[in-house]
Amino acid sequence: MTYIEMQGLSKQYPRKEQWALKDFQLSIEKGEFIAIVGPSGSGKSTLLNMLTGFEQVTKGSFLLEEENVTNYSPKNRNIAMVFQEYALFPHMTVRDNIAFGMKVRKENKQTIEEKVHWAAVSLELEELLQEKPKSLSGGQRQRVALARAIVREPKLFLLDEPLSNLDAKLREQTGVLIRQVHDQLKATTIFVTHAQDEAMSLADRVVVLKDGVVQQIGTPREIYEAPVNLFTASFIGRPEINRFDGEIHGDGSLIVQDERFGTDFDRFPVQQVIAAVRSEDIHLSDGAGSHSGVIKKIRYMGSDQLISVLWKDVLLAIRTSTDSSVSVGQKINFTVDQKKVFLFSCNDHKKLNEV
Ligand code: ADP
Repeated sequence: MTYIEMQGLSKQYPRKEQWALKDFQLSIEKGEFIAIVGPSGSGKSTLLNMLTGFEQVTKGSFLLEEENVTNYSPKNRNIAMVFQEYALFPHMTVRDNIAFGMKVRKENKQTIEEKVHWAAVSLELEELLQEKPKSLSGGQRQRVALARAIVREPKLFLLDEPLSNLDAKLREQTGVLIRQVHDQLKATTIFVTHAQDEAMSLADRVVVLKDGVVQQIGTPREIYEAPVNLFTASFIGRPEINRFDGEIHGDGSLIVQDERFGTDFDRFPVQQVIAAVRSEDIHLSDGAGSHSGVIKKIRYMGSDQLISVLWKDVLLAIRTSTDSSVSVGQKINFTVDQKKVFLFSCNDHKKLNEV
């Protein structure tokens, strides 16, 4: 039995021609951590709102443990949602905020006490139980919101951009904590974010959305190493993947900017292509087949450095070790790891088929 099934979920808002979400298809196993990632307007909130029941589904169904809950009211779904804006009660202490839903549901006092304690320990809030939200930092507030969600022991957790109000360090810490709590509880989780790095570092599987249409579903590694189209290749990974117009010739060579980018492409038909290669797959080298460019910018990152190189009329990003001593204005040679070059069709931007 699949724990959660989304079968062709679609949404068209009134007076809008474009579908906000089209034929969304996903099966989720119990305990999985799924990230939905896409740029603004790709349909992430629409999907979440349909899952919680705040927005009506135009077409398709949503099954939770084989029960069709598509048209259930939000409160009958046993789904807990954590928002970006925390939504805590300002006049209540942390303890009362966490206990609130359980009190409303008239759960037994001792059970409430035990669950509050357990959630506070899991989310490192024990010292803060008597505080009011206004005296907490953003990260602490977010942890209270999570604690409030976990005491419900819902069938599904929906996290809507839960890290986006936090500064970089807290974002990382809270992300790790969310994953820890997930692993402890084995709670099935859907995490929605526009930030690809969060999706990639936290989730078991990532769903990439664009314009309401799923582009790819896979493990972070699959998405990064085998993108099925140019959008996924560009959206996932930083710096953005280098892309070039190119041509495959009859001898199997890939020609970019009139230079031979590789010789090993005879498995593809002769045609115009879009070639894409990540910054770490271009290497500074004077070896055979190298190209020359001029360094325009260097970004020191600590563990490595990113250099922008002007090669003819394109600017490309190359990631190198900090051992390579380079300077702006310097002429350098580079080679491309041709096994790591992705090829996409010029027409529909899909991964090119081999012959
Ligand atoms: P995201 O959360 O990824 O930014 P949304 O789900 O908010 O994307 O939006 C998807 C599309 O649906 C967008 O084109 C947006 O303009 C449209 N949309 C979202 N909410 C409404 C609404 N309530 N009424 C009409 N159109 C909407």
